[in-house]
Amino acid sequence: MGNRAVFLDRDGTINEEVGYVNHLERFHLLPRVAQAIRLLNQHEWKAVVITNQSGVARGYFPESLIHQVHQKMKDLLKKDGAHLDGIYYCPHHPDIGIPPYRQKCRCRKPSTGLIEEAVKELDLDPSQSYMVGDRGRDIEFAHQIRAKAILVLTGYGRGEWEYSRDQWKVKPEHVAEDLFEAVQWILYQESNRPNLGKGE
Ligand SMILES: [Mg+2]
Ligand SMILES: [Zn+2]
Repeated sequence: MGNRAVFLDRDGTINEEVGYVNHLERFHLLPRVAQAIRLLNQHEWKAVVITNQSGVARGYFPESLIHQVHQKMKDLLKKDGAHLDGIYYCPHHPDIGIPPYRQKCRCRKPSTGLIEEAVKELDLDPSQSYMVGDRGRDIEFAHQIRAKAILVLTGYGRGEWEYSRDQWKVKPEHVAEDLFEAVQWILYQESNRPNLGKGE
């Protein structure tokens, strides 16, 4: 059996939703996010970011900015004793921009290309895993990879939950105020499961 993971959407889940993080200065961690990821680290869950960054295809910022932003994210988390096990992003858009970024890729959520990469590199078992995100497509994505889905009400979450959820093909297993509450819920669920692995 592979490792269990909590897949994390980025914008609106880890950091403030600002439309597009088109400058390093616009990246700000949401409250309690570092604590949430630290909890995952402590309980031996892989914390893996899966993010669509179509701003590259749209010409809003270069792909190199994504790397800078992710370095900032890692640095901020590290200050609070938390780390990510992997960060995977899709810079594409199916209809906008110029090739190679304009393409019908296999990595844009809810497509599953990024997960396939993560599963291989980190030896993960998505069916033992969770996906946390703030959009309906994150929930659909969770369903595609057969992970359990949690919607957070940060970012677009509250509005999507209130106004768009009737259009969703699938519903989340749980709705949480923020990532910290989502992680607490996951750990609680798992502590109440029959012991499938090692004990606490
Ligand atoms: Mg998001
Ligand atoms: Zn892609």
